[in-house]
Amino acid sequence: MASPRGGNVRVAVVGSGPAGIYTAEALVKQAAEPVEVDVIERLPTPYGLVRYGVAPDHTSIKSIANYLRRVLELPQVRFLGGLTLGEELSVADLLGSYDAVVYCTGAMVDRHMGIPGEDLPGSVAATDFVNWYCGHPDVSPDRFTLDSPEVAVIGVGNVAVDVVRILAKTAEELSSTDVPHEVLERLAGSQVKAIHMIGRRGAQHAKFTLKELRELGELANADVCVRPEEAVVLGGDFPRQIRGNIDVLQSWAARPPQGRPRRLDVRFWMKPVEILGEERVEGLRLERTRLSEDGRVVGTGEFETLPVGMVLRSVGYQSVPLPGVPFDESTMTVPNQAGRVRDREYVAGWLKRGPTGVIGTNKSDATETVRTLLADLSDRPPVRLTPIDELLAGRGVRPIGYHDWRRIEDAEAELARTLGRGERVKLVGLQAMLDACGRPDSR
Ligand code: NAP
Repeated sequence: MASPRGGNVRVAVVGSGPAGIYTAEALVKQAAEPVEVDVIERLPTPYGLVRYGVAPDHTSIKSIANYLRRVLELPQVRFLGGLTLGEELSVADLLGSYDAVVYCTGAMVDRHMGIPGEDLPGSVAATDFVNWYCGHPDVSPDRFTLDSPEVAVIGVGNVAVDVVRILAKTAEELSSTDVPHEVLERLAGSQVKAIHMIGRRGAQHAKFTLKELRELGELANADVCVRPEEAVVLGGDFPRQIRGNIDVLQSWAARPPQGRPRRLDVRFWMKPVEILGEERVEGLRLERTRLSEDGRVVGTGEFETLPVGMVLRSVGYQSVPLPGVPFDESTMTVPNQAGRVRDREYVAGWLKRGPTGVIGTNKSDATETVRTLLADLSDRPPVRLTPIDELLAGRGVRPIGYHDWRRIEDAEAELARTLGRGERVKLVGLQAMLDACGRPDSR
């Protein structure tokens, strides 16, 4: 591949989660010519869902950040935080400063169920709750009080399992994690006694993975209960993972509760039909379901109401459109062919294929997009580019650099030491992060 201008090829990657950083790595590894990659991020902190989505007690998955860090430290790669597409920068700015742009902003919001009561106070997107315990600066630590003895979590995917596990654990169990201290204090004051995890289909259809499911059975503070009649599965020819899930669920159905302080009820064949309440959530009405002959989930007309004060909707994430970037509202992704969106614009990760797969899936996904990008660049005419630093300086915008971010990390390690907790404790709020990197006047 020859650079269109004869110099280094410059690429902007928008988003510094796994998809963005794997894309930066693939650019450095796959390009035949020297390449410069700027990873542009709206927050002062990199790693996206690895920092703000992976559960704090999943330390081995969190350690993927160490791998991503090595990519950001490559001499060909820069981190430019505090820059939001559509605010400090537009698509036109990026195309005027880079040979190509790759959008990797993931899937940041929750899907809706479309049932009455979904907007009542106390009905909450799992994404909000996850952001809360992960210390995302968009969600204040006082967002949740956990004052309801009963809580429902709708959905049986891995996010639901994360949310349930955090609700079921004691604050002591989470003390060595990076959960913000204010959040840990709220978890310590939790009144939650019963957690209901609701699957609208059967055990064989659940989306959680076996390893994550098994962890629920190891909770020291909660009994996991499954109703034998709901764990019955007809037929026997299931893939290994699903067979494993069914076996675990059926073993739980056969064991009596141990008298632990909290109780997790894993329910199947129950479809949420209404979230009840006047001023705030007071209950969740469910309808028992079955599969119709053509494989659809249909109601049986048999109803049950759970007396819950909070409903966490964990029914999947979805991407949001980026200003000036094509978006398909039916798939909630950016339309692309092998990662190509339009001339010099590309996409990778959940924004490209939807919110599926594990973190590592984004690596092969990024490889495909970068292959397309490099092939396109090799035979396109030169583009006159304005250096991005010049453009930002002209607007009085100073991005958060990698070394600024490292100062935030140092402050988090220092906070953990002061509190006598683990390796790091997340700082709360954007201002605290900006203060830590000596940028109190930035926003
Ligand atoms: P998911 O795996 O797609 O699960 C969504 C769940 O919501 C499914 O059980 C689905 O049931 C249910 N659902 C959807 N619409 C519903 C409705 N209207 N009413 C009731 N239930 C509804 O999504 P996710 O849990 O958000 O996870 C997203 C991705 O991140 C997945 O690839 C997941 O594996 C990954 N992840 C991985 C980890 C990990 O590896 N530890 C942790 C967190 C997330 P149906 O099947 O019936 O549609």
